[in-house]
Amino acid sequence: MSTRKTERLDGSIAADVERAARLLRAGGLVAIPTETVYGLAALALDPLAVRGIYAAKGRPSSNPLIVHTHDLESARALTSWWPPLASALAGAFWPGPLSLVLPRAETIPDEVTAGGQTVALRVPDHPVARALLKQLGAPLAAPSANRSEHVSPTTAEHVLADLDGRIDAVLDGGQCGFGIESTVLQLDRAGPRLLRAGAIPRDRLEALIGPVALGAAQDRFSKSVLVSASPGQHQRHYAPAGLLRLCVGPEVPSVLCDLSAIAQETLAEPPKLGVLLCGDETPEPAGALVLRLPGDAVVYARFLYSALRALEDAECSAIAIEEVPVGVAWDAIRDRLTRAAAQPS
Ligand code: AMP
Ligand code: MG
Repeated sequence: MSTRKTERLDGSIAADVERAARLLRAGGLVAIPTETVYGLAALALDPLAVRGIYAAKGRPSSNPLIVHTHDLESARALTSWWPPLASALAGAFWPGPLSLVLPRAETIPDEVTAGGQTVALRVPDHPVARALLKQLGAPLAAPSANRSEHVSPTTAEHVLADLDGRIDAVLDGGQCGFGIESTVLQLDRAGPRLLRAGAIPRDRLEALIGPVALGAAQDRFSKSVLVSASPGQHQRHYAPAGLLRLCVGPEVPSVLCDLSAIAQETLAEPPKLGVLLCGDETPEPAGALVLRLPGDAVVYARFLYSALRALEDAECSAIAIEEVPVGVAWDAIRDRLTRAAAQPS
């Protein structure tokens, strides 16, 4: 892919937001801040522009994109079925980090849905994203602005570390507030189904709409997972480079020993060890770079991806991560950590 100059734009300057809108209108790729993570945006109704997203990220074309709109009516216009449940959820959680998967309108290009009959939609709550969407008056397809399978970006610097020279601009809006991706909920005639745990915990959805089924729909006859239900939810995802293992606090020292032995077999020199602790109970093991995040799920989520990138930047090739508490508030974090620790497929 050809190298381009990536402009650094400041989301607090109106002229820079206008510049981002101009680049997007011309079919360009601009990374934008949202309240979840930075998104790599292109005009959702321009198939060529959308293809550029897949090329820049190295994303498999089978992994569909979330479409971002300025308001509920613009989102609704991109669907062919909008049940009362969608109005209830959008009314309660938009603008905000909830993506609703609904039957698509004809206008949505196949590139956005990965050929499927549904589209994921959300109205983001970041002031810079909202200003840009308002100015554009058009929907933006925007997956996380990282190289495919890498850790999602929560600062403009993270975006540049992955995509400098591959996109037209990054619009800096500071550190993302949630720091973890949106909750993805599918609505169809069978009822609501959680496809991805995310920034809004399941219990908050259930308080509004009652029980929510988990995971991709099963085909009643073949018992196989329907391909179109939750594409892109690959096992390994959100992963830093290096060996990574999850364990409970007291096991951190022995896991570091095991990882060290495994890494030594493949590396010429002894591996650098990294540790990510949760809360303040587990003591710091010696001989490792130790990062500690608080035992509060909201704050932990905000800084998780920065911590994973910091361990990677420090060239830690063997990383032990302390398991997070049980409970629905930690579901999305546990999901991301499990995926990050999964072996490459
Ligand atoms: P990302 O924006 O990179 O965090 O990824 C978006 C994720 O949303 C995808 O990996 C899918 O899991 C989910 N998604 C997007 N569109 C759809 C859709 N039409 N049906 C089901 N899941 C979707
Ligand atoms: Mg992503």
